[in-house]
Amino acid sequence: RSQLEPNVDEYCNKVLDRDRMFLSKAITLIESNAPRHERSAGELLQRLLPHTGNSIRIGITGVPGAGKSTFIEAFGLMLCELGHRVAVLAVDPSSAIRGGSILGDKTRMEQLSKHPNAFIRPSPSEGTLGGVHRKTRETILVCEAAGYDVILVETVGVGQSEGIVRGMVDFFMMLAITGAGDELQGMKKGIMELVDAIIVNKADGDNVELAKKTAREFKQMLHFVQSPTNGWTPRALPCSSLKGTGMEDVWEIIQQFAKETKSSGVFESRRKKQAKDWLYSLIDARLQKLFFEHAEIKKLLPKMEHQVMSEEITVKKACDQLFTVFNGK
Ligand code: GDP
Repeated sequence: RSQLEPNVDEYCNKVLDRDRMFLSKAITLIESNAPRHERSAGELLQRLLPHTGNSIRIGITGVPGAGKSTFIEAFGLMLCELGHRVAVLAVDPSSAIRGGSILGDKTRMEQLSKHPNAFIRPSPSEGTLGGVHRKTRETILVCEAAGYDVILVETVGVGQSEGIVRGMVDFFMMLAITGAGDELQGMKKGIMELVDAIIVNKADGDNVELAKKTAREFKQMLHFVQSPTNGWTPRALPCSSLKGTGMEDVWEIIQQFAKETKSSGVFESRRKKQAKDWLYSLIDARLQKLFFEHAEIKKLLPKMEHQVMSEEITVKKACDQLFTVFNGK
């Protein structure tokens, strides 16, 4: 073994021993794009696999300012006090697109980050959303192996990030606020079809009644869309992350969800389907990489592009020619 190669045995044992420093190091290994790290990370994940899965994975979305980090801090602290071990991860497409991030900076959730039962990890900053997506999934597994039984995955309603997070969690909820127009809430029609619950935050002070009313309105709206989870009627309820009210209700609903979907088999079948979908998305990514990094394709593609744009050849013919080259014929 080369000196530079991480010691997979050591990583594996330390993660299973719930050593936080090694958990962080393991995630850094997973996030690395260096080939020797990828090999070690792959081996590590394979070894940890039998110790994964024993958690509830919860996705949380909401526009910037909805109160996600305030909510996660209050909700996470409550869970930690109940004896749970809480890992907070983020999927932040903006870190890939703009190099900055809306989510995941470490100054947020200050109290939670100091709690011995909590582990907070910012979004991986990788060039593509697909890459972030794969690494977050793997990070979920490592956190589970390290004994975290509640995994919170935070995201914002940018691009496809909500759908991607929905695809890696058991329970998905949106944090909403009152008085914001549909547009402000990021209420692309599709979001209603992704959520198991809508939590109307900032139900405090003068805003309590309005928040309750908004929750009732959401509840009605949810009746008109198909639930993402077979047999589960999506819920809507108010809370105040600032005052810490409504946190128990949210947890109660999630526990009820877990109980019902586990006994109906929906919980397990969703996880199996997610694993299968993940396999196919990895295959897609690998194929694309093979294609676009193929030396001959790299040369031919700009020409084909040009000929298509100048209407010299049809798109179909350009594609055929590219694949003839790709297949080495
Ligand atoms: P994020 O962008 O979704 O993570 O939102 P933040 O958690 O940063 O919260 C945005 C602002 O809303 C901050 O000024 C918070 O203090 C405030 N806020 C968050 N939750 C509540 C709440 O329950 N009640 C009130 N009144 N303000 C809140």
